[in-house]
Amino acid sequence: MISKKDITKRFISYVTVDTESDPESDTTPSTAKQWDLANALVLELKDIGMSDVTIDDNSYIMATLPSNVDHKVPTIGFVSHFDTTPDFTGANVKPQIIENYDGKDIILNASENIVLSPDYFEDLLLYKGQTLITTDGTTLLGADDKAGITEIISAMEYLINHPEIKHGKIRVGFTPDEEIGRGAHKFDVKKFGADWAYTMDGSQIGELEYENFNAAGAKVTIKGKIVHPGYAKGKMVNSMYIATEFINSLPRMETPEHTDGYQGFFHLHNMEGKVEETVLQYIIRDHDMGHFEARKEVMQNLTDAINEQYEREVITIEIKDQYFNMKEKVVPVMHIVDIAEEAMKALDIEPLIKPIRGGTDGSQLSYMGLPCPNIFAGGHNFHGRYEYVPVESMIKATEVICKIVELTAEKA
Ligand SMILES: [Zn+2]
Repeated sequence: MISKKDITKRFISYVTVDTESDPESDTTPSTAKQWDLANALVLELKDIGMSDVTIDDNSYIMATLPSNVDHKVPTIGFVSHFDTTPDFTGANVKPQIIENYDGKDIILNASENIVLSPDYFEDLLLYKGQTLITTDGTTLLGADDKAGITEIISAMEYLINHPEIKHGKIRVGFTPDEEIGRGAHKFDVKKFGADWAYTMDGSQIGELEYENFNAAGAKVTIKGKIVHPGYAKGKMVNSMYIATEFINSLPRMETPEHTDGYQGFFHLHNMEGKVEETVLQYIIRDHDMGHFEARKEVMQNLTDAINEQYEREVITIEIKDQYFNMKEKVVPVMHIVDIAEEAMKALDIEPLIKPIRGGTDGSQLSYMGLPCPNIFAGGHNFHGRYEYVPVESMIKATEVICKIVELTAEKA
């Protein structure tokens, strides 16, 4: 239905615009260059015939495809982000197109000897015979999440050109700054006005996600006492040793490198210490709300116990919730997951339903009143030079969008 050539051309027109976001910036969008693509997307949405195309002062884009049926159908939204991660450069992306992939090593960059190999990235073998878009080994690709934008716009264009496909009102939303955790922050859920939505921001074909972590950050500060080491007996308190006690008292196997699936963890991601003061930065993650609360309690109790042991306040802990599992908001409206699953099956795509070991914009949007599961956008190896996307997966994702709106209108 959608040609490989058209979708490839559209995708490349987006990834060749640098839209790297910046966590150090306080503005929205966090980088001025995100406007370059945002403004182009507004023109394109108008150009393909979308209605109510708006962009606000923070660069959030919204657009409407009006219903083409007489009966009442729920309004569905599709959401993607146009920024790319600050973890790896997204400037001067030079995509390479590998047609009819033969299942062997792909030389991304001969002069720098950068190779995309199925020996290491086994997923590549799923796409033998397909068309892959890769980087030239020096930048990321930006399939996260310009593949999502490509698919949403391609689906809208297809629906506009094929009025025989019946659908209700559809809303489209594109956001800046998802990669720095702020994509949903200034999203006007009321203005968007959808009954539910999907982020097109997953990876492998078939992915469908409606469970993510509950997340908190913990900052642990340990105060010591510095005294001349030659005269320190009974006086010096070395905060780094107390920090080690703290670290070693948490379960060693409940860390990211020892857990998967539904297993939660404590993750020490930064420590800075001197005798006088040591600061530990943790993140706490768990899908289960009860376990999540228990993890926070474990850290608080450990803090109290060490303070008791030293008979004064040597440790303080500051725990802040970051985001919550969208499952709580999606399960009461489970038909929105079921319909996506049904759409995939109707297109011979095997649904891969699994918990996200992280968060999405959708989890925040779900708590802002817009239940929002996540659907595959097709790319792999996000946030680095080995990122790639099969064109066939982008076409399938586009078809999933069309099928979801068709099924929703049918059932209404
Ligand atoms: Zn993304």
